[in-house]
Amino acid sequence: MPIELLTIPCLRDNYAFLLHDSDRDETVCVDVPESGPIMAALSARKWTLTHILLTHHHDDHIAGVAKLQAFSDAKVVGAAADAARLPPLDIEVTEGDIFKVLGTPVHVIDTPGHTVGHIAFHFPETGHAFTGDTLMAGGCGRLFEGTPAQMWNSLQKLAALPPETLICSGHEYTESNLRFAHSLEPENPALISRLDTTEEARADGRPTVPSTLAEELATNPFLRADRPNLRQAVGLPDAPVVEVFAAIRERKDNF
Ligand code: ZN
Ligand code: FE
Repeated sequence: MPIELLTIPCLRDNYAFLLHDSDRDETVCVDVPESGPIMAALSARKWTLTHILLTHHHDDHIAGVAKLQAFSDAKVVGAAADAARLPPLDIEVTEGDIFKVLGTPVHVIDTPGHTVGHIAFHFPETGHAFTGDTLMAGGCGRLFEGTPAQMWNSLQKLAALPPETLICSGHEYTESNLRFAHSLEPENPALISRLDTTEEARADGRPTVPSTLAEELATNPFLRADRPNLRQAVGLPDAPVVEVFAAIRERKDNF
């Protein structure tokens, strides 16, 4: 399939994504922190925007929607559960829904935790997952509205996707996320080498997003709360995994 992914830096550390199919001349934008850089990327390539997918209602993910719509006929897709807090939706979706864009199916995964209405979009045929502020490169979003149990459960659903899936997440927080991860797992070789390549990429101003799910499984402490060494690192060798996860999240909030 002639699909191209573009990662677009927005605001200070946000990302928007364009997924483009050249045969169909259709383009999907996932999250709209601001319209300027996205419109610039579309017009530079003469791409037609057909859909806007929203992961959650926070301003740094939706602020540019109205302007982007004024410049295109794009249909807006978002969580039915959060319709009242999102820009006007053309298509409201819930857990388990499958809709088509670019001629390819998109699976809706309910991922509460960061916000209660947060969703992720999985494109099984192209191998992309847009995870917003749920699963992030080397980390996960803060728990503004949901419980640790909700976020752990959301992350488990994403962890079950094929390991080669490209995880397209909402922010460039990777370096600080991995420094925190390294404080918990100083001897994890995959983590040490990821921290190295991340520091190099950032020094050159290159994005470290997307990552692969395989990398996240090997290095992201929020997916690894059930490992004996992580349990040990937060002093909870025998606690239920959700408690371990909550302890890791709390340490990160104070890191
Ligand atoms: Zn957010
Ligand atoms: Fe955000």
